Amino acid sequence: MSDLTRMTATEIAGLVAGGETSAVEVTRAHLDRIAAVDDRVHAFLHVDSEGALAAAAKVDERRAAGEELGPLAGVPVAVKDVLTTKGVPTTVGSKILEGWRPPYDSTIVQRLRDAGTVMLGKTNMDEFAMGSSTEYSAYGPTHNPWDLDRIPGGSGGGSAAALAAYEAPLAIGSDTGGSIRQPGAVTGTVGAKPTYGGTSRYGLVAFSSSLDTPGPCARTVLDAALLHQVIGGHDPRDSTSIPQPVPDVVAAAKLGATGGLTGVKLGIVKELTGEGAEPGVMAAFRESVDALAKLGADIVEVSCPHFKYALPAYYLIAPSECSSNLARFDGVRFGLRVGDDGNRSLEEVMSLTREAGFGPEVKRRIMLGTYALSSGYYDAYYGQAQKVRTLITRDFTAAFEQVDALISPTTPFVAFPIGARTSDPYQMYLADLFTIPTNLYGGPGISVPCGLSDGLPVGLQIMAPTMADDRMYRVAAALESVVGTFTPPAL
Ligand code: GLN
Repeated sequence: MSDLTRMTATEIAGLVAGGETSAVEVTRAHLDRIAAVDDRVHAFLHVDSEGALAAAAKVDERRAAGEELGPLAGVPVAVKDVLTTKGVPTTVGSKILEGWRPPYDSTIVQRLRDAGTVMLGKTNMDEFAMGSSTEYSAYGPTHNPWDLDRIPGGSGGGSAAALAAYEAPLAIGSDTGGSIRQPGAVTGTVGAKPTYGGTSRYGLVAFSSSLDTPGPCARTVLDAALLHQVIGGHDPRDSTSIPQPVPDVVAAAKLGATGGLTGVKLGIVKELTGEGAEPGVMAAFRESVDALAKLGADIVEVSCPHFKYALPAYYLIAPSECSSNLARFDGVRFGLRVGDDGNRSLEEVMSLTREAGFGPEVKRRIMLGTYALSSGYYDAYYGQAQKVRTLITRDFTAAFEQVDALISPTTPFVAFPIGARTSDPYQMYLADLFTIPTNLYGGPGISVPCGLSDGLPVGLQIMAPTMADDRMYRVAAALESVVGTFTPPAL
């Protein structure tokens, strides 16, 4: 059998279903790969070998008993450490949750288990999903398999790096401002942010509740669609979950891979293709636009004039929501507690715990958000940002009256060297310049590898109207069918 870790999820599931390999064998191959490379990549914060092998054995038993297996049964998956996993450590990349073992599974993880996928472990991330490089993890950075001295993107750099390093064929991320798509772009993998409310936030440690969206990461568009289908759909435990079935993203990916794009109208977003993007990124993007046109798509330029205010609006809304959400980490209920020696007041213990437990970026956001929400400033900052959010939504609505989907590069630049942007928060924030508008609107967005610039991957972003997630998969699969997939140098 050729190397199981090089296969797509679709291929692995086929072999398991056909009895040509076992889920245990597949799991062992991936655990061995993790043991061989993860000391250099550091994609994982926790590897659950025992749990994974037990879950795999159960799949093999079910198959032997003649039970019908789902389309991803026996396929390993790596889960971003932002989702609760029953009995398995969940840290959100923060010291404040070190050692916390949640008493329950998030809905996403529950659905992964029900589908017979095998959870390998929890992946590294920027603390509380705040960052674009995974350098803000309290447990040290993840390294990009394309060049170990470079960042794998963030905040879900661990999930993306696990895919690119062949440690897992599937992974889960969460996208508040780009944290699935941007790591996908800079690691040459596929990352999809579903429609907000299309995937459940139950058991997702909250950063910015009106933006947070869990979603699939994979090495191919079809694999991402299969994973999306498994994790998506209505969840009564999440009050913002959309009570509708998942659009048929799998059929759309299959159609795109073979059917071309005749009759599909795509809009290049003028505001996301001008200033700010590296020439190498723009060159790869332009070549892909030509490829999309050859596939039959009708391509026009579209203006979304308010997108230029998306970054400042996001950096008021997201910190505001985080300042409220993170108030629950008080040293009483979860994880870390500092200074509880019997002589200190509750307030002192809380303050010592938060001082020791949160890193500098998280503290910066809490302070910014508390300020933006304070009386007297609320209207000028938070209120104003919400108005900008409405204008951005109107830009999307107007654009989708003209075109079926919008396209842009996913990120302005390729993977940068570790340490290059940590001294200036604004330089780090710029990594999400092109991904943030979609989050403010709530629609779906996907990043698909579209070429290389100086030997490093470039991603193309496709944005669709809310609940038209299938449309972006069709375009992504069509592009993938002509540009192919990208393999990093051997580790
Ligand atoms: N990089 C952005 C931020 O720091 C987005 C992060 C995310 O999507 N979780 O907030």
